[in-house]
Amino acid sequence: MLRLLLCALVAGAMLAPLTVLADEVVVYSARKEHLIKPLFDRYTDETGVPISYITDKAGPLLQRLQAEGRRTPADMLITVDAGNLWHAAETGVLAEINSSVLDANVPANLRDPKGRWFGLSERARTIVYSTGRVTPDQLGSYEDLADRKWKGRLCLRTSKKVYNQSLVATLIARHGEEKAEQIVRGWVANLAAVPFSNDTKAMEAVAAGQCDVTIVNTYYFGRLQQKQPDIKLALFWANQDSSGTHINVSGAGVTRHAKHAEAAQKLLEWLSSETAQAEFAGRNMEYPVNPRVAPDPRVSGWGSFKADELNVNEAGRLQAAAIRLMDRAGYR
Ligand code: FE
Repeated sequence: MLRLLLCALVAGAMLAPLTVLADEVVVYSARKEHLIKPLFDRYTDETGVPISYITDKAGPLLQRLQAEGRRTPADMLITVDAGNLWHAAETGVLAEINSSVLDANVPANLRDPKGRWFGLSERARTIVYSTGRVTPDQLGSYEDLADRKWKGRLCLRTSKKVYNQSLVATLIARHGEEKAEQIVRGWVANLAAVPFSNDTKAMEAVAAGQCDVTIVNTYYFGRLQQKQPDIKLALFWANQDSSGTHINVSGAGVTRHAKHAEAAQKLLEWLSSETAQAEFAGRNMEYPVNPRVAPDPRVSGWGSFKADELNVNEAGRLQAAAIRLMDRAGYR
């Protein structure tokens, strides 16, 4: 009974309409409030256009958009990971946008070829190692972490997280399913512990000596390093002799049923501009997608690297195959 009541309450909350003003932009954001609010405030100051928003996890926001259909108050969806952006586009909730501004500000490999979403910040997912037990010359690539020399020395985050699904999807794109599965099986055989629920826990396990290497998004490393400047961990740029380091994006699109489509497109263009990019990316220690904007000094301090140039859209296209593959390989 209680469960039924809870379900009803949750469903009610999901469909509770936002009040929509005549000339505003309504945003559904899976990017957290402290990362977007300062930028929205600036935009409103500069343009007079008010922005209202709700924040939630990517899944519930997409479900809400789908449930609301053409009645949705949302003009824009902001979410993280190309896998989620791809999924949103596939479900038909995003409009195709043609914008020379966005095309100029966002590199082609960081946006949907059909213009339904555009990357707004870039993160690398790469290797973090124990500086006490590993030297960088022992490291090389994601593929190499399947080698027996890492037996009992590898920690990973759970395969349930879209970040790892996207990483494995790019292995499939590059090597085909059979070889990609061999690599993932190799990782599983090398695990020192059951996969962790988040990147930070995986890094803490390396710091604590439970394992020697892991794979994380760069901003999580940045946050941990800020909290514990003496932590004996370092970033290693994976695959510099081959494909380049795996990158992913946070990004946004204008909704198909936007009531303020033009205003939403203007906001999206502004978010990709030189004015907004440093802050949009820097607040979360990510890389700007706009090539004319320099990263935050904390981020550029990690050094430069060759990034994988594969269109991040591939991470979405091959996501389902990646999930099945990780399941077959016993990666929990
Ligand atoms: Fe994250």
